[in-house]
Amino acid sequence: MKLYDIGTRKEIVNLETAIFKGLANDGSLYMPTEIPRIAKQLIAAIEHLSFQELSYEVAKCLIGEDVPSSELRHLIEKALNFPAPLHWLGEDTAILELFHGPSMAFKDFGARFMAQLMSYFLQKRNHQIHILVATSGDTGGAVAAGFHSAPGILVSILYPSGKVSPIQEKQLTTWGENITALEVQGNFDDCQAMVKQAFTDPDLSHLPLSSANSINIARLIPQSFYYFEAFRQIALRKQQDKKVIFSVPSGNFGNLTAGLMAKKMGLPVHLFLAATNINRIVPDYLKRGIYQPAPSQPTISNAMDVGNPSNFSRMIELYGGSTWNTTPKEKDTEQQQLPLPLKCSTWNIAKSTQQLLQQQEVLHKIQKDIIGYSYTDQQTLEAIQTFQKKYHYLFDPHGAIAMLALQEYKQTQHHHIIGIALETAHPAKFIETIQRATGEIPQIPKQLAALQEKEKRSVKIKAYEELKEYLLK
Ligand SMILES: *Cc1c(COP(=O)(O)O)cnc(C)c1O
Repeated sequence: MKLYDIGTRKEIVNLETAIFKGLANDGSLYMPTEIPRIAKQLIAAIEHLSFQELSYEVAKCLIGEDVPSSELRHLIEKALNFPAPLHWLGEDTAILELFHGPSMAFKDFGARFMAQLMSYFLQKRNHQIHILVATSGDTGGAVAAGFHSAPGILVSILYPSGKVSPIQEKQLTTWGENITALEVQGNFDDCQAMVKQAFTDPDLSHLPLSSANSINIARLIPQSFYYFEAFRQIALRKQQDKKVIFSVPSGNFGNLTAGLMAKKMGLPVHLFLAATNINRIVPDYLKRGIYQPAPSQPTISNAMDVGNPSNFSRMIELYGGSTWNTTPKEKDTEQQQLPLPLKCSTWNIAKSTQQLLQQQEVLHKIQKDIIGYSYTDQQTLEAIQTFQKKYHYLFDPHGAIAMLALQEYKQTQHHHIIGIALETAHPAKFIETIQRATGEIPQIPKQLAALQEKEKRSVKIKAYEELKEYLLK
């Protein structure tokens, strides 16, 4: 597998380099130089595979020779040791439940796969690394669970003391072994500033510090697996002749980008719905053709409170000619310029992405594959209650938004289409919101309840000097 940087399209690296660096030299994201098509026979006989076998085939197709087959098989079995079941709400509507992993959110897929992949490369070279990550809540939990016991990897997670929920805190502080929770007296920004300072501190430059950033390509790859898995389960119901659409609750758009990659690999997805809360930057782009990042606004579906989605440039790249050496034709750019909504310097996105955004052709192609929807908190709360009454299914605030979009889309068309809404977290992770919506406290699954018994252990730090001392020990 080769990857290029979206910014200059000149830096070509292998998978190992891309996952340990995270970001390219110019600060842009890595993107595969090629998205190979998966064998037609595989999709035709998809129901004969298990989820893990299917994931292996998809990974093999994308990753190629960078990881030997037997190792790849093994690491997928370890990373994906939980299912992604479809829960059917009727003949042609289903929920793809992505919360059966250890932290009960879909970020487990990315974090666990990344941990296994990193461990594989580290063992091969007999290296060790120390991952430093700041969290405002959920990411840290998935990273801790994913990297727990991973050989060769130490993990230190900085979180703001008293500013994460009790369950979230337990998800960070009860692991032991290679996971240490650093309880910072301050807010999330302080945590993030400390991590940044550590990465640039010359006194620490001899340490093998690394990050587990959400834009890492290793977190994106496994998210394409479960789109295939949904088709496998549809085939088991003998409904594979129907068109299939996915509704994806989106913030940084990693999940949706992974779906687009699956489609590019040959998975016959008819359409994607990009479902957001009021942070509707992408739905607005899809409607008006103008990409206008804005400061994020807080909502009850807070994992989607993103005002400048980091994977947007990857999405656009997939439609901008799709291969890394395709630069926009001069003529096209001249003829079909859209008005630039903001000064380029404030965009904070790669120049090459800006160029693609000026081509009508790119917009038209993307509009054929994705429709955007956005909803307010009030609509989300009402939906959680309505869906519970109508389907006897309790959504979390993120999945509820996906279901709202699916419902709205289905009202406008009358063909037989299978609609699948992605449910990205278990509702019990959002007790207060669920109680506000339904008047009831959701049942706490065993996994989360067991955490309440476990003992919290953290290292308290106040200032950067203390972090530095800790890292040098
Ligand atoms: C991170 C997250 C999302 C958004 O996913 P993106 O890939 O960033 O679009 C949606 N729901 C939940 C529960 C999340 O944690």
